[in-house]
Amino acid sequence: MTAQTTAVWRKRAACRGIDPEVFYPASDEDAGQAKAICAVCPVREACLEHALANREREGIWGGATERERRRIHRQRRKSA
Ligand code: SF4
Repeated sequence: MTAQTTAVWRKRAACRGIDPEVFYPASDEDAGQAKAICAVCPVREACLEHALANREREGIWGGATERERRRIHRQRRKSA
């Protein structure tokens, strides 16, 4: 994904203008608010793929916690 493509989907992000701290909860159990916002985000898939491609270690991206993204990586490796 190019920087330009990233800029395009970020403009449509449901989290624009929302306190970024919401997306960096102290624990997975506190991720509910961020996940609820991601659930209605029109660019959720692009956001998740961006996080997976860039190995984002922290925060909620595309509605997935870091642990959930690790699981997705594992599943994809298995089915590759
Ligand atoms: S999926 Fe969530 S973190 Fe990603 S852009 Fe949308 S609201 Fe923001």
